[in-house]
Amino acid sequence: MLSNVAAASEALKTLVAAPISVMEVCGTHTVSIFRTGLRSLLPQSLRLVSGPGCPVCVTDQGEIDCALSLLETGAIVAAYGDMFRVPGKSGSLASKRSAGFDARLVTSASDVLAIAENEPRNEVVFLAVGFETTAPATAALVLEASERNIANLSILSFHKRTPPALKALSADPALAISGFLLPGHVCVILGHEPFRFLAEQHGIPAVIAGFDPEQIMLGLVAIALQKKQGEATLRSVYGQAVRPEGNTKARELMESVFISKDASWRGLGILPDSGLVLREEFTRFDAEKRFGLSRLPGESPAGCRCGEVLTGRITPTECPLFRTACTPVSPVGPCMVSGEGTCGAYFRYHRTNGGKQ
Ligand code: SF4
Repeated sequence: MLSNVAAASEALKTLVAAPISVMEVCGTHTVSIFRTGLRSLLPQSLRLVSGPGCPVCVTDQGEIDCALSLLETGAIVAAYGDMFRVPGKSGSLASKRSAGFDARLVTSASDVLAIAENEPRNEVVFLAVGFETTAPATAALVLEASERNIANLSILSFHKRTPPALKALSADPALAISGFLLPGHVCVILGHEPFRFLAEQHGIPAVIAGFDPEQIMLGLVAIALQKKQGEATLRSVYGQAVRPEGNTKARELMESVFISKDASWRGLGILPDSGLVLREEFTRFDAEKRFGLSRLPGESPAGCRCGEVLTGRITPTECPLFRTACTPVSPVGPCMVSGEGTCGAYFRYHRTNGGKQ
């Protein structure tokens, strides 16, 4: 693998003469690139910018506040790890739990089912966050709860769809993205088709890649080659995991439970058809309806520039709070909280990459 990475590094130095900006869409790519020191192997002319591929980070501030408000009803709110520390207007799930509210950490959707079954007198709400990679598991949870007639379980769905976010980014001339390194795990589910528009409509090369250094470097070479040859197509260097048609069963499962709806993203605003909400037949599991909640526009923490970080407009070091008021121990914004957050990755690894951005 090392020799392939070194060869790709040499190839990039030859291929990228004029400056290009490549967006690595996914937080897993961002962290892998930093952790393995790949930035030091890239030519100066190739700029990597991080995109909106961390599900915790793109969850809108109003959605965070909506989830926190649920605790006030006395419901048990179950959520995955990183969501626990994201600050909202009145604290975080973690601080609320310390204050006596019932927020529970879960590692899988089936944990939520167990809580609901073991505590039938309590309302249990699952805070469902994530892209097309986690939405099928939420869909399976809803179907199982429906089959087993579990009456005290509901879902607060903040699931988001990846293609509409990339559509918004590729249509923004200010960002001038030269190529997209596409998230391999989302493409395992969606396949190639939903991302073809990047090349066909916007003329931007897009390459599906996995997450180890070799995959990332191969993906970057495939983008650089297209730029040099004046081409724009959708390519994949991750054929061992991603089938062109994706995972049909997972998609059918997701589509049997959810429909798409406009959703608000941190940094991108409201994007058409970019969220997933429960279908009419599953309304009884919809926490927003059950508790009469509304997603009001939320205000980001004062001074936090996560929205600009998530869209590649600035790097974390350009946020005045980075490493001062905002650290992993005391995070101000979600990009510092999440294990896939760009600010957290910069905090942990930036110095070890010779300061190269
Ligand atoms: S450093 Fe902190 S406050 Fe600044 S953008 Fe990142 S998460 Fe937000």
